[in-house]
Amino acid sequence: MRMPYVNSRLAPMGTTIFAEMSALAVATGSINLGQGFPDTDGPEEIKRAAAEAVLAGHGNQYPPGAGIPELRAAVAAHQKRFYSLDFDPDTEVLITAGATEAIAAALLALLEPGDEVVAFEPYYDSYTACIAMAGGVRVPVTLRPPHFRPDLDALRAAVTDRTRLLLLNTPHNPTGMVLTRAESEAIAQLARERDLLVVTDEVYEHLTFGPEHIPLATLPGMRERTVTIGSAGKTFSFTGWKVGWVTAPPALVSAVRSAKQFLTYVASGPFQYAAATALALPDQYFTTLRSDLERKRDLLADGLSAAGFEVFRPDGTYFVTTDISGLSDKDGAAFCRELPQRCGVVAIPNQVFYDDTEAARSLVRFAFCKGDEVLAEAVERLGRLGRLRG
Ligand code: PMP
Ligand code: GLN
Repeated sequence: MRMPYVNSRLAPMGTTIFAEMSALAVATGSINLGQGFPDTDGPEEIKRAAAEAVLAGHGNQYPPGAGIPELRAAVAAHQKRFYSLDFDPDTEVLITAGATEAIAAALLALLEPGDEVVAFEPYYDSYTACIAMAGGVRVPVTLRPPHFRPDLDALRAAVTDRTRLLLLNTPHNPTGMVLTRAESEAIAQLARERDLLVVTDEVYEHLTFGPEHIPLATLPGMRERTVTIGSAGKTFSFTGWKVGWVTAPPALVSAVRSAKQFLTYVASGPFQYAAATALALPDQYFTTLRSDLERKRDLLADGLSAAGFEVFRPDGTYFVTTDISGLSDKDGAAFCRELPQRCGVVAIPNQVFYDDTEAARSLVRFAFCKGDEVLAEAVERLGRLGRLRG
């Protein structure tokens, strides 16, 4: 759709693929394996904590700008419990309206117009929009199938004197790649050598299937230059609550807060109380979340393979990227537009996450954060595609 009033920085972004594909799923009554949201909510006790907060009048009026103290303390305790990282809840934690606002505020606060941001593509779609809104210049380093491992020489070559920051995402959406310790160390070394800031989106930190998630801030010399972003949406299956957070040293938190205060000022008052309760859930919650999702990954991945897709089994996130070449000569965008009519399933073409769209011409992403019976039905429907090649 042509948007005549939008400025030149945003015009190329159009409507997000997630809104477009979820609308298509509703319009066609399809199974939505496009936009990444779980089809069952997180724990009952956490829902109750949110309801109780509303009824008790906690957070119904503007919470403090930095977030409620209980949640800031819970975020700090979480970073300590899982990663042995110490953050001062008063000066080194900032609560945001989901990770989305954290990303926006970090980029708006840290970039001068013309500054370069080096990021791996495919990138989560809000990165390109927020870099553009901040007047920055994105410099992609392409991840390629089958393993989507970062090319560290290409990363090094992409850094120039105009590079202000590295924008990282591990575990990585949409590929499911999880940076290894050696890769993270190489990236950290580059950041130190070239004196770069790092903004690292770790919203899928608990969704890994084998490989360990390594927060960039845990590596030597990185805590002081890193803005780490997390979200209750992914870890606790409440994507509608929009509770996210930033952990960073005081000067970086204060910079991010300068932008954040003029975006939403604050958000999600009562849900902040519920997120504080959620972050204190016992370890078993996190291990069960992971093992459930691993089973779902295998269910969908095996079904997609049997249906004729080439499957790149992810180490993390709740997305699986596939290659459709065995099933279609069309590109991913055309394939995904037709998929609802052909078999009643919605997926996302990975092309939309790339500058180098050719690199993802035949790549399509499916979400597996859905009920086992929903995934089984989707697999059954996708299984019919091979017989209807087109
Ligand atoms: N970063 C990545 C990589 C994501 O996949 C998502 C969301 N789906 C977000 C950020 C946004 O998170 P939130 O819903 O907390 O704003
Ligand atoms: N992060 C989710 C995904 O990748 C979608 C979030 C959104 O719709 N903005 O599917």
